[in-house]
Amino acid sequence: MIDTIDTSSLKTTIQNAAHIVIIPHLNPDGDAMGSSLGIFHVLKNIGKKVHVVSPSAYPKFLSWMKGADEAVNFEEKPQEAIEILHDADLLVFVDFNCLKRTGKLEEEIRKLDVSKIMIDHHPYPDPIAEVMISVPSSSSTCELAYQTLSSLGWNDFVDSCAAECFYTGIMTDTGSLSYNSSNPETYRMVAGLLEKNIDKDKIHQLVFHSNSFSRMKLLGHVLGSKLVLMPEQEAAYMCLSSKELEAYDFQPGDTEGFVNYPLGIAGINVSAFFMEKEGKVKCSFRSRGDFPVNLFSESHFSGGGHRNAAGGESVLSLELTVDKFKTELPVFYEKFKKNEL
Ligand code: 5GP
Ligand code: MN
Repeated sequence: MIDTIDTSSLKTTIQNAAHIVIIPHLNPDGDAMGSSLGIFHVLKNIGKKVHVVSPSAYPKFLSWMKGADEAVNFEEKPQEAIEILHDADLLVFVDFNCLKRTGKLEEEIRKLDVSKIMIDHHPYPDPIAEVMISVPSSSSTCELAYQTLSSLGWNDFVDSCAAECFYTGIMTDTGSLSYNSSNPETYRMVAGLLEKNIDKDKIHQLVFHSNSFSRMKLLGHVLGSKLVLMPEQEAAYMCLSSKELEAYDFQPGDTEGFVNYPLGIAGINVSAFFMEKEGKVKCSFRSRGDFPVNLFSESHFSGGGHRNAAGGESVLSLELTVDKFKTELPVFYEKFKKNEL
């Protein structure tokens, strides 16, 4: 918990740093970009030299965030990203807790002998930083980051730009406060952010209601033609090949949220979504209740995450990946039902 962190030494670590680089996870989502950019603005307001280096591109629906255009994408500009990293004397890891989550950037990060801070809300953290702010019960890394900065006495440096970013991550990681958000503290944090004069409705509009026509057609295709039910396991899954993605002019972020739709079906408590990506299959899992998709993903799809939201990957073909899911899920489900996990 935050209470147990030595805030004065954390503050000193940040104050002593000349150049701070913030790193979100691969394929950063609203929480990863929100926490990166929120911290970026606050540290800038404090007078720090600061950069965000992202392992890969962020989705288009987050491009409105102030500072997003200044984030350096390692896949797009590897040399620039490496130069920035080598000039840093403090790294801040946000929204991930094992270096594998930074993809090919991991190799570069491992070469650096600098201080590191981690701010994250996933369970089972690896010891990847000297200061580990790891609170799995927190709604989002954004909530945790805002809380941490406030506890350091820097609430006044959280301007409306930072507040917009932090609010975005809380909103996207909780399905607009519909899950993972029953702790009154989350609402206190949201109240604090609203007091910074952010336009909450505008953020909602920009993130959820700014779809491209092709993304809506792709959603129609996947729900209309690709949704398969496994009623005995209270499960449903969908998959998309790279050919299908190409046919719908796929852009990064277009499939964000697709995996949640099957949970809208009565009796379905587990959902899986598979898509071909860069020669591998990206897997996404969601559940309602106690079914631990993070353990399922860790066991069979080299992944992890939260109990109700996890991801992973497969080097098998899309077809074989789906076959593996159809074979392994019933076995895992049986164990879950018998309390044998
Ligand atoms: P998504 O399905 O949105 O990609 O990911 C859902 C959750 O699982 C997120 O909290 C994300 O950080 C985590 N996650 C996604 N992919 C992986 C992965 O390959 N490994 C681990 N450990 N976590 C993942
Ligand atoms: Mn998160």
